[in-house]
Amino acid sequence: MYYVGFCRLCGTGPLGLRQCGRCNKLLILCDECDAIWTSSDLKAKPFLAQSGELPCPACENSLIETPSRWATQTDIEASDWLQQALEKKQLELRQGTAFAPDATNDTTEGDTHDAS
Ligand SMILES: [Zn+2]
Ligand SMILES: [Zn+2]
Repeated sequence: MYYVGFCRLCGTGPLGLRQCGRCNKLLILCDECDAIWTSSDLKAKPFLAQSGELPCPACENSLIETPSRWATQTDIEASDWLQQALEKKQLELRQGTAFAPDATNDTTEGDTHDAS
């Protein structure tokens, strides 16, 4: 998963690059609080999903279900606004693991392992 920093709303979520499976728009999606930005202007007001389906702001297709996915290097290179933002150093591209922004958090919450 590629991300471009951390969310100013929740403070902890990585801002992942998400590719809409229907309209192929590249979006910035907070992995933690699901805020969505459609451009590199992170000071702009984000779209906040009203449902767990995370509708794409452009076409309302679900951003969770396939074929929506985390953007690849190819998607990133194909996105004009993102390339411009990276050139101007408005955003910095990093690579990380989805749903595990904090590797030091060692709780077993959500772990289905049964020791019995
Ligand atoms: Zn879309
Ligand atoms: Zn967030």
